[in-house]
Amino acid sequence: MHSGLYNRAILRIAIKPRGPLLIRAGHTAEENSLPFEHNVETPHGNSAAVPFIPGSSLKGVIRNHYERVAGSCGIRVCDLFSNSACGRETRADSSTSDTEGEFYASSLCAACKVFGCDASAGRFWVEDAMPSQQNPPTRQLRATLPIDRLLGSGRSASAADFEAVVGGEFETRIILENFELWQLGMIGIVLMDIDDGLVQIGGLRSKGYGLVSLNFDSCEFFFAKPGLPTERIYGVGSLVSEKQRGQFGYMTEDWLVLKLPSRSETGADQGMAAAIKYDIISDVFGLKYVVNSNEAVRSLFSMLLRNLLDYVSQQRTSADRTAGKREE
Ligand SMILES: [Zn+2]
Repeated sequence: MHSGLYNRAILRIAIKPRGPLLIRAGHTAEENSLPFEHNVETPHGNSAAVPFIPGSSLKGVIRNHYERVAGSCGIRVCDLFSNSACGRETRADSSTSDTEGEFYASSLCAACKVFGCDASAGRFWVEDAMPSQQNPPTRQLRATLPIDRLLGSGRSASAADFEAVVGGEFETRIILENFELWQLGMIGIVLMDIDDGLVQIGGLRSKGYGLVSLNFDSCEFFFAKPGLPTERIYGVGSLVSEKQRGQFGYMTEDWLVLKLPSRSETGADQGMAAAIKYDIISDVFGLKYVVNSNEAVRSLFSMLLRNLLDYVSQQRTSADRTAGKREE
């Protein structure tokens, strides 16, 4: 992929369990000595063990739903566990950047472009979600009580008790580098669906576990190009050379003018100043700013739908063209 850094987004998210959450993990011998199953734990700060949500679990949940959304938009995604997965066939010599661009454009599906696969590193990372210092989730022992089908009453509690996590907040960061705007738009849809309770995290989903809501604390952007106009967001396609844009198949207009709401809680209309805080506006490094409210990040996601729709229609057109060629 690109050796240089063209853009980066760091999204800070608070994950709030709406009900019980149980993220299972491979148990160590010590953990197995406990008489019940419990949420995966790790040492953190002064605590020997706190419940957390591994970044790998979050990435899996996000990728899985991303693939479903992409599929419903008619965008091709591969099955990572099949022989037709991206990059399974022997890669052609990829030592030159020309081949690299071509590989990205034509051999990677919409999911592997973002999350990576055996043949490509991907452009998306999510960190382990740790308990918030101020408002940590609490452990809660829960018993499964089988219902007698005839009497409708509870039978005696089974031995399969476990410890879930309830309330409070976990904190994590999602990082995207060298991203196209439609990709951030897709991530936005996925996160909004998780927040809407359409996607569950962890185990016991059939029992209604794993529902969470999300608060977007901030999104920090960096665009590595001198002299960029402010109040815009730039995808990698608008930051590379025209030649590279063609090779990687990036969208021609991979940028967007930001019109973000002022902070509603202040009541006064403070315009862009309230929603965006600029760190660097430089003729050497580029542009860096923070979108610093939950509402502003949410409206950013909905604005990015335009870029996503442009990408979807471009993909459909090229798919139609390929189908047309085959018929000839
Ligand atoms: Zn793929």
